[in-house]
Amino acid sequence: PTPDDCPADVETLGRSTWTLLHSIAATYPKTPSAAQQSDLRTFMGTFSRLYPCWVCAEDFQRYMEKDHVQVGSRDEFGKWLCEAHNAVNVKLGKEKFDCSKWEERWRTGWKDGRCD
Ligand code: FAD
Repeated sequence: PTPDDCPADVETLGRSTWTLLHSIAATYPKTPSAAQQSDLRTFMGTFSRLYPCWVCAEDFQRYMEKDHVQVGSRDEFGKWLCEAHNAVNVKLGKEKFDCSKWEERWRTGWKDGRCD
């Protein structure tokens, strides 16, 4: 068996979840409708209560209480999510990510063609 055949630990769950969340940001419209904005706000609120790492979820809910999720556009949500991820990076002693590059990492691929 490979590690992928076993229940996800906090790291695997985290990496997979960030992939999902940043990919949602990457495909979120530049000019979302009121319904799309409402869906994303609801999703993020529900997500923060259901995320199956309870200490992570509690901290993330607290983060969202003081820094409300921004759903007005792809750019707004993408940057908000990048900052939220950075807050977790700082908490865990990881390097901060340069949020001017979130679209290269999660939507377009790097300018040097690394993802082609
Ligand atoms: P990850 O942090 O999983 O990042 C994956 C990839 O995303 C990186 O390789 C990089 O290319 C890119 N990336 C990194 N930072 C950013 C950014 N700011 N914006 C855009 N892209 C970026 N773990 C705990 O131990 N304690 C916690 O309290 C905790 N809280 C979490 C809360 C949430 C909401 C989530 C989704 C995860 C949480 N985790 C927590 C897991 C943790 O964030 C990491 O996912 C895990 O430690 C694995 O880290 P990693 O180094 O593989 O990279």
